[in-house]
Parts: sequence; C-alpha cells; structure tokens
Amino acid sequence: MGFLTGKRALIVGLASNRSIAWGIAKAMQREGAELAFTYQNEKLRDRVEKMAGECGTEIIVPCDVSDDEQIDAVFDHLDDYWDHLDIIVHSVAFAPRAELEGDYLESVSREGFRVAHEISSYSFSALAKAGCRMMEGRDGALLTLSYYGAEKAMPNYNVMGLAKASLEANVRYMAQSLGPDGIRVNAISAGPIKTLAAAGISNFRKMLDLMERTSPLRKNVTIDEVGNAAAFLCSDLASGITGEVTYVDAGYNTTGMPPLDD
Ligand code: NAD
Repeated sequence: MGFLTGKRALIVGLASNRSIAWGIAKAMQREGAELAFTYQNEKLRDRVEKMAGECGTEIIVPCDVSDDEQIDAVFDHLDDYWDHLDIIVHSVAFAPRAELEGDYLESVSREGFRVAHEISSYSFSALAKAGCRMMEGRDGALLTLSYYGAEKAMPNYNVMGLAKASLEANVRYMAQSLGPDGIRVNAISAGPIKTLAAAGISNFRKMLDLMERTSPLRKNVTIDEVGNAAAFLCSDLASGITGEVTYVDAGYNTTGMPPLDD
C-alpha cells in the first residue's frame, strides 16, 4: 500500500510527458493517490486526456488560470466526481518569451511583469481560494514549483525570477492562512529540466551543462526525482512541514562556488 492511498489529487500544469507535473502524477499514482488533471487549452486536451488515461482517471477539466470563472468551474466539475480533495499541485508558470532573454532591465516591461506574476504566482492563491472548500476536515496539502532564480539573479531568467520570489512568499503567506485549517502549503525548487516551459529560456542548454558539471551530485535532476519529493511533501509523512521551499536540485543551491578542479 502506497503512502498516498486514499488521497485525491488535482494536478494543474500537465503539458507533455516531459512536464514536471507528469513526474509528480506518476509518483502520486504509484503511491496510491487518485488523480484529476486540468489542461490549459484545447490544443493540449487530447494529450492530457491520453496521459490521464495512463494514470487510470477520466477526470480532466479545462483551466486557463488567468480566468477566475474557469478556476471555479474546475472545482464545480470535481464536485461531480469527488466529495473531497486532499492535494492541489500547481505546476504552472508563464512569461512572454521576449522577457526571458538578454539584459533584465532592457527586457522587462510593465505588461510582461504583470502577466508573469499573475500566471506564475497569483494563480496559486486563486486555486487555493477556490479549491480549499473541498479540503474541509481533511489534512490537505498544496504544492507549487519554484526555481533558484527566485533567490539569486540568473542570466536570462529575468522577470520570472521576480515572479518566483513572489511565489515563494505566497507559499509562506498561504501556509499562515491555511495552517489553522490543517492545510499545508509547500514549494519544491527544482533544478533545470528540459521541458516545454524551459525551452522558452534563452541558453537553457548551458544551464543544464553547468549544473551537470558543478552541482555536488554532478548531474541534472529528473521529473521522477521531483515527483518523489512532491509525493512525500503532499503525504501525511510530511505532516509537520509547511511554508517551506524544498530544493530538488542535486545540491546546486548549497554551493558558494563551482568546483575549482573541473
Ligand atoms: P511545462 O511546460 O511542462 O509546464 C508548464 C505548464 O504551465 C504547462 O502545462 C502550461 O499549460 C501551464 N500554463 C502556462 N500558462 C498557463 C495558464 N495561463 N493557465 C493554465 N496553465 C498554464 O514545464 P515545466 O518545466 O514542467 O513547468 C512546471 C513548473 O515547474 C513551472 O512553474 C516552472 O517554472 C517550474 N520549474 C521548472 C523548471 C525547469 O527547469 N523545467 C525548474 C524549476 C521550476
């Protein structure tokens, strides 16, 4: 019996079999959770439907997180299948591509800043505001995905770093709001992984290469490694952990300088 047996999880942010959300879904299913998925738009519907099928679920719901009505509709739809929910995974981020290359001040714009923060940070609060009613009386868990660019200035990550800093603060404030109801809120800060979203970041391959050469474990992390940590954080095994950012990055964030002998 897996450590998520009896739990029901909504996963927001599946786009392909490279998505971090897919690593999380597979780990959660393996540990016994029942799953439901959202998809951003019609273009992704067939793919998400097929992948949901592989996880033994037919529950897939459209949700563009920039639209509050669609967010409310997700939980109305879930009501038709489930009388409660235990886990929400938010694995969503977006910034206009032009903001993810070159000099930060030259690339940042008022509109790009707004969109990046709205889609990548506010939407986590929006999902909690709409969905936590289904967690009443449960030991609920919310999880989002961040990156080290929230904490340190990184080349090309630009406005997304600011949005991730907002997201990590959001985790702490949401943990404070929801803790009295027994709901935990955490983030995983993942190392770079080649996904559709990551392809939008200029010179992403160089980030992967640097990580592999210089992280303490001398490797890049996989969606399965992130998935395993996510399954743990959303399970009762992590019942004492909330408001935290947990790194799954082969130790990269713990180093002050790359190895000098490489
Ligand atoms: P991905 O492209 O597979 O997933 C991004 C998801 O965001 C997609 O499913 C997309 O549909 C969704 N999305 C974007 N705008 C949306 C909107 N308006 N409404 C609904 N959904 C929307 O890429 P990924 O790398 O798996 O990204 C998942 C999360 O992991 C993101 O928050 C990302 O910043 C974070 N992350 C990624 C890496 C990496 O290197 N890949 C590292 C650290 C953190």
